[in-house]
Order: sequence, then C-alpha cells, then structure tokens
Amino acid sequence: MVIAGSAAPSLRIDRVSKRYTPTKLALDEVEFQAGSGEFVVLLGPSFSGKSTLIRLIAGIETVESGQMALHGKMVAGPGKHRPPEGRDLVMVVRDYALWPHMKAIDNVAFALRRLKMSADERRCASLAMLDRVGLAAYAEQYPNDLSGGEQQRVALARALVSKPGLLLFDEPLSNLDADLRERLRVEIASLTRECGSTAVYITHDQSEAFALADKI
Ligand code: ADP
Ligand code: MG
Repeated sequence: MVIAGSAAPSLRIDRVSKRYTPTKLALDEVEFQAGSGEFVVLLGPSFSGKSTLIRLIAGIETVESGQMALHGKMVAGPGKHRPPEGRDLVMVVRDYALWPHMKAIDNVAFALRRLKMSADERRCASLAMLDRVGLAAYAEQYPNDLSGGEQQRVALARALVSKPGLLLFDEPLSNLDADLRERLRVEIASLTRECGSTAVYITHDQSEAFALADKI
C-alpha cells in the first residue's frame, strides 16, 4: 500500500511492517504521509490491516520494521517506541469508551486533566465543546442516559477539546444508523478542520471516505 505524500508532513510512515504471528504479515511496508491539517482517509475492506495501522500510529502496538515520525519527531523505529501519551494524539473508536460513572461534561473534562488549567476553566472549555456538538443541554447526563449517537458526540467532544495535533478515527460511526452516520460525519469533518488537527480516519465505507477526505 503506497499513498502519495505531501510537502510538510505532520505524520510520516516509512515502510512500516507488522506481524502478529511468525507466518502472517498484517502490514507489509506501508508508506504514507499526512500533511499538517490534512484529513486523510484510509479505505479498505475488513482484515486489510486498518486497525493495526492506526494502533501502530497511536503507539498501542509496536512496529516490527520501518519507522514513523510525528510532528517532525521519530516516534517509532529501530529501538524506538514513544508511548501513546507522548505522541500528542487522540483516538476515537466505535464503542465510544466513555466512563459510565462520569457525567458527559466530566468525560470531556477528563481529556484536559493533564493541562495546566483550573477546574473552572476545564468545565468551561468542556461545556463549550459539548455545545459545539449540540449537547450542551446534556452536560449533566450520564452516558447510559444518552443514545448511541449522543454518546459518540460526547466522545468526539472529548477528542477535540484538547486540540490534539493528530486525531485518529477507527470506524467511529459504524455502530450508528445511516441517517445519523451521515450527519455526524459532516460534523466530524467540519469540527476537525476548525481545530486545525491533522486527521487519519479509517473506514470500509466508500461514501464515508469520499465525504470526509482531503486524500484517500
Ligand atoms: P481491519 O481493521 O482492516 O479489519 P485489522 O488490523 O484488525 O484489520 O487486522 C489485520 C489482520 O491482522 C487480520 O488478519 C487480523 O486477524 C490480524 N490481527 C489483528 N489484530 C491481531 C492480534 N492482536 N493478534 C493476532 N492477529 C491480529
Ligand atoms: Mg478494524
């Protein structure tokens, strides 16, 4: 798999391979680049290695060979593995992964826990981001009292609130019905671009890919 590059990459993947078992290669010398602020969609069928690639970028898995640079710094390569929390990125997955014991606003504010902000500033920024995804009125609700689409909006607010350099999406809409999927992908595209984050979005859905991507 080779995807054409761009001038000033904020993510550069160089001949990255990954093997889970000795006989089976999950990724074979993958190369691609994402320019700063670019929205890149990786489109492929099930089992083609999309989640593997996104987990490697996130740092949840280690590469077997090749290297990866993020915002100009090598994060994975021979003898090098920078942990996920040191990569200035956030990942959004399909099962939301919200804390069930925290209200929506506290789930969002949790993403700001490491930043130097007062509790008030954190609440304020979180409420503003919930408002942006249309959920300000639900700030005090717990995830279990929200629909699937609302929970995914909270997850999106949590991902965007810290304005990460890189946003990773692993088929975040595949649990939702078609109507909602279409509405949410429009929101993902516009909010991500407003935040100025680089995005890597994986999907097996061609129409989703064409709706979102600067580059597929
Ligand atoms: P996709 O997200 O495109 O469906 P995956 O990255 O999940 O693809 O899987 C790529 C291949 O790697 C598949 O053949 C899958 O069975 C295998 N694989 C994925 N994760 C693991 C794992 N933790 N252990 C062993 N094999 C795995
Ligand atoms: Mg997958």
